[in-house]
Amino acid sequence: MSDYDVIVIGSGAGGGTLVRHLAPSGKRILLLERGDWLRREPQNWQAQEVFVDGRYISQDTWYYANGEPFQPQVHYFVGGATKLYGAALYRLRREDFGVLRHHDGLSPAWPISYEDMEPYYTRAEQLYQVHGARGEDPTEPPASAPYPHPAVSHEPRIQQLADDLAKSGLHPFHAPCGVLLDEGNMPYSKCVRCDNCDGFPCLVHAKSDAEVISVRPALEHPNVTLLTGAEAIRLECNSAGTVVTGVVVDHEGERTSFEADVVVVSCGAANSAKLLLASACDAHPGGLANGSDQVGRNYMFHNSQAVLALSKEENPTVFQKTLGVNDFYFRGGEDFQFPLGNIQMVGKSQAPMFRGEKPGETRFAPTWTLETVARHAVDFWLSTEDLPRPGNRVTLAADGNVAINYAPSNEEPKERLYHQLKEMLADLGMHHGHLLPHHAYLKNEIPVAGCAHQAGTCRFGADPDSSVLNADCRAHELDNLYVVDTSFFPSIGAVNPALTAMANAIRVGDHLLARLSAQPQPEPVHA
Ligand SMILES: Cc1cc2nc3c(=O)[nH]c(=O)nc-3n(C[C@H](O)[C@H](O)[C@H](O)COP(=O)(O)OP(=O)(O)OC[C@H]3O[C@@H](n4cnc5c(N)ncnc54)[C@H](O)[C@@H]3O)c2cc1C
Ligand code: SF4
Repeated sequence: MSDYDVIVIGSGAGGGTLVRHLAPSGKRILLLERGDWLRREPQNWQAQEVFVDGRYISQDTWYYANGEPFQPQVHYFVGGATKLYGAALYRLRREDFGVLRHHDGLSPAWPISYEDMEPYYTRAEQLYQVHGARGEDPTEPPASAPYPHPAVSHEPRIQQLADDLAKSGLHPFHAPCGVLLDEGNMPYSKCVRCDNCDGFPCLVHAKSDAEVISVRPALEHPNVTLLTGAEAIRLECNSAGTVVTGVVVDHEGERTSFEADVVVVSCGAANSAKLLLASACDAHPGGLANGSDQVGRNYMFHNSQAVLALSKEENPTVFQKTLGVNDFYFRGGEDFQFPLGNIQMVGKSQAPMFRGEKPGETRFAPTWTLETVARHAVDFWLSTEDLPRPGNRVTLAADGNVAINYAPSNEEPKERLYHQLKEMLADLGMHHGHLLPHHAYLKNEIPVAGCAHQAGTCRFGADPDSSVLNADCRAHELDNLYVVDTSFFPSIGAVNPALTAMANAIRVGDHLLARLSAQPQPEPVHA
């Protein structure tokens, strides 16, 4: 008998949610997490510590294809990247599941439809307690239930922005947010509605992250074991290469290994590819589950821009991430019929976040201090879909770490989206000459290092020659190996990815529950 029924590697949006879903089954589950619990400490909410000193960013070194090293913006904690995320919990659009024609080519279809995913989106929204308002966003896909909680209200400056945008014919909407906020009963609300949310850990555990919502409740079940500081180094398989037989782990300085009937990889898109590639063996010489040579390919992370608009009037907003605009999601306008992407707010900028930048030295405000600039800033995040390209790829560097080769796509729509924002703001007291690139959220100016939305290195699909996983997110080539982080995305759309990873983890969880309660599977016939 194996040590466990299921081993899940990685406790973020995918892995954490899956374990939460499997926990009540009574199955013996081991959750391996290379990081530790993220400490609750005053620094959680200090912009200098978080944005400038990089207190919660891993010390990993990754490499560009040319061998140049960089520090990636990855976070190794129980809960994964969701500990720091902005908790904007969007569904992909229904059209994102089909083929979409973009300026630079086709965004491919998923092997499942939006209708297949819809019930799981609803369950994920309920689990992660998402706040939102249906019917405002013209691109919104159909939903079988209302949001479980009312939309987070706009503060006055953002309400004014929403009203002005609506007057100009656009359709601003309340952004879906995963915060444990009860505006009707603030004395009892876990979320205190602060200005240290997007990009910060939540000191009071009121963000719907994977630790709070999934891992902690899962650990209340005695059949679930969490090992922190446990980095999976490689997966071993039988001589035929059809079944994973062991997970080799570095745990607090010691090498050990565990066995399970089912092994689920959920290390984040780059690290999951790394683990599979590092698990090459005689039966899988190019890396585990990599007979198609697709592991690591089609890496995506959004063509994103963080932009700060200087408003003539002050912007005293505290919790700013409440508004989105999708009017340009599918097309730029009469003269540009291709998708541009999503516009949303990010957390309110604070002076320390500007680091070495000098936004005060603008034509608009040549004498402003950084504090004044921060007081007048209205902050936006623009996402354009980047297309899956086989050459955009994670490989192993000589030292075994992640190497990323990436060439951007859809640069023209990205520029046009920026231009649309400028046009939008021109009449709203935010002079279009005063939009500034805002690097705080990218940590530095190297886009590839800002890999917050990484996805796509083990895409799922019907064809084993062009995908790594089948529609259940099981490796085509191994009977008991699954991947449930954002690696499985065949395309990334232009909205934030976490809710899709969570919903899919519940979907795969249902499949695993059926599998685990069934009779033992016969030896697989495929190799
Ligand atoms: C600052 C920031 C803001 C964001 N804002 C949003 C947002 O507003 N909305 C949204 O939808 N998304 C947002 N994201 C992205 C979102 O957090 C990710 O898409 C999501 O967490 C991805 O889930 P995952 O399961 O693929 O990986 P992760 O959540 O990163 O989980 C991977 C886990 O695997 C662990 N791990 C890695 N390698 C190993 C190993 N070898 N052995 C054991 N454990 C391992 C890691 O420590 C980590 O805990 C943001 C991300 C960041 C960084
Ligand atoms: S806004 Fe709410 S959820 Fe976000 S960090 Fe503050 S208290 Fe936590």
